[in-house]
Amino acid sequence: MQQLIEFTDKGLYCAPGNFYIDPWQPVDKAIITHAHSDHARAGNRYYLSHHFTKPLLQARLGDHHYESIEWNEQVNINNVMVSLHPAGHIIGSSQVRVAYNNEVWVVSGDYKTEDDGISGAFEPVPCNVFITESTFGLPIYKWQPQSDIYESVCNWVIKNKEENKTSVLIAYSLGKAQRLLTALEPLQEIIYLHGAIDNMQQALQTTGITFPAVERITADTSKEKLKKGIVIAPPGADGSAWMKRFEPYATGVCSGWMQVRGNVRRRNADAGFALSDHADWDGLLSAIKETGAQKVFVTHGFQASFSRYLNENGILSAEVKTEFGNDDDEPVNAAGIVEDINTDQQQNQ
Ligand SMILES: [Zn+2]
Ligand SMILES: [Zn+2]
Repeated sequence: MQQLIEFTDKGLYCAPGNFYIDPWQPVDKAIITHAHSDHARAGNRYYLSHHFTKPLLQARLGDHHYESIEWNEQVNINNVMVSLHPAGHIIGSSQVRVAYNNEVWVVSGDYKTEDDGISGAFEPVPCNVFITESTFGLPIYKWQPQSDIYESVCNWVIKNKEENKTSVLIAYSLGKAQRLLTALEPLQEIIYLHGAIDNMQQALQTTGITFPAVERITADTSKEKLKKGIVIAPPGADGSAWMKRFEPYATGVCSGWMQVRGNVRRRNADAGFALSDHADWDGLLSAIKETGAQKVFVTHGFQASFSRYLNENGILSAEVKTEFGNDDDEPVNAAGIVEDINTDQQQNQ
């Protein structure tokens, strides 16, 4: 029997609705879970996403035919009922619910179960089949509460200031950067942004979400102004000549991978904050259980071992090969780190 959602070489495909979800090759009709580059690619003829994802897609992918809807709004596509539900991963991120002939499938995209206050609280959606990510699908990944991490970040910034250093926080431009702005709010300082992050802030203006005061760093920004200040930059800028203007400075890398001992040193950072936009091990398992799904397909991350774990624990599961990548870290510096972890995992089996 044909599956309601098939795994094709272009992406996740719903045949009765004739649409794709987060396709990695250009298609006529794409439903987009969120604006990260491995899930939202240019070249599709039509995009459907959440209202908050739309301006981000416009900023990142340029001119295309975009339409957007609210969470829980039902759309009929060739008699397939489609709706979006908060995924809690980044601003606008959504799970896609697909219902047809009394069968419900949910595609999670990327998700996080802890409510970060700006991305919408993850909503468990009952379904027959759940397609989950597994970025941090190993038991070693267990996040500290967000409030604790935010406090550590603020304390680190205060310490740097006392030592006459600029604090340079390294964070992915979409997701982590916005959460850091929220984290730094109690310090009531102007936060200086790398252009790539400021571009996202500009795009997010239409969402009405409020952030602390920021200023874009340009060639004209005086060195004096940045002294002992706070800077947020994407991983691609880490270690580049662009950073020189902040000297003396300390770097703090914000990534779930920072939970693994050795990765802070490997990234040459002064501090590591295990702040992730993905669910940790417990988060993945609780999310899966709450869907009540009879079958779970596992995509990008530790899909082989995670899917095996589910099968061994009474949840029918299979891994799926996709072209979704690891967006919790920029590819620039992340490859080594991620590969190391994978190697460790394989050696442990
Ligand atoms: Zn993502
Ligand atoms: Zn992803």
